[in-house]
Amino acid sequence: MSAADFHQILGVTPDASAAEIKRAYKRLAMRWHPDRNPDPQAHDQFRRVREAFERLTQPAEDEATDNAAEASPPHKPRQSRPRGPDHRQDVTVDLTEAARGTTVTVTIEGREPCDDCDGSGQRSYGRTNMCGSCHGSGRLRRNGKLETCGDCGGKGFTTDNSCPSCQGRGWQPADRQLVVTVPPALLPGEELRIAGQGGPAPDGGEPGDLYLTLRTRPHPLFRLQHHDLHVAVPVSIFRMLAGGAIEVPTLDGLREVLLPEAATSAEIRVPEAGFPARGRRKAGDLVVHLAPQHPAFLSKEQKAMLEMAEQVLQHQLASQSPALAAWNNLLDAHR
Ligand SMILES: [Zn+2]
Ligand SMILES: [Zn+2]
Repeated sequence: MSAADFHQILGVTPDASAAEIKRAYKRLAMRWHPDRNPDPQAHDQFRRVREAFERLTQPAEDEATDNAAEASPPHKPRQSRPRGPDHRQDVTVDLTEAARGTTVTVTIEGREPCDDCDGSGQRSYGRTNMCGSCHGSGRLRRNGKLETCGDCGGKGFTTDNSCPSCQGRGWQPADRQLVVTVPPALLPGEELRIAGQGGPAPDGGEPGDLYLTLRTRPHPLFRLQHHDLHVAVPVSIFRMLAGGAIEVPTLDGLREVLLPEAATSAEIRVPEAGFPARGRRKAGDLVVHLAPQHPAFLSKEQKAMLEMAEQVLQHQLASQSPALAAWNNLLDAHR
């Protein structure tokens, strides 16, 4: 048998570390120990697993003692235990909550080993059969790579007697509620890291982290673009012409904005009145999109006033409206 065969028996890749080999051995030895597994092939499989482990770990020790640098024994770097996986999910808040900061209760989908089967997924060990495809290692060699055996899902055995409590999964859903503080001025798309709330580690190592990506619900008034806040504000056509103060909404309530006289631009930018600053990021602007509103009808009085305004305009057209003055000249030439 070659080293490659031993690797395959243990279901590890040829470049597996000593720690990985040891873990695989422990896992398979537990599974195929004749005391625990009455499968007729268990005894043979257990022996093969142990032999593979011994053959893969022995030469390494021999090399170590042959090594000339015996005076200073090779110092193995401390193998850090494998961490649990990081988990990611979204957390959705209102735009104002995102600006001011808030606390939210997050439901984390969790799993815990099934009590009824001690996490094995099986009613008993009595009816497990070694997988014929991978001969119990749970992995198959394909194109020179080891892949999880599809016939047994990587378990190394098949079972016809799955645990009724967990339908053979070996775990039960155990959702957790977590109260999370969302700091002020976090933008949608930014992440919050919650240490230690990710997946559990397989071998007693540290659990992974939970990453929450902030999302915001659509707001009835505001549209957030990066950190600028856009808002459409209807304004009467008279106010647009006369200029003056109008009230506009911000994330902090209402605010007065001064319209320039005879405003022509449909857009007013209020610096730093948008999404609040955070760290080195400056506050965004409030961009007010003016939506001029024409009255549905005019009163007699309004008509008279507008007529008067028009007459005054025609008297000083050259200065008040050069475009109209130029147009009148063109018309004259065309007469
Ligand atoms: Zn298999
Ligand atoms: Zn179960």
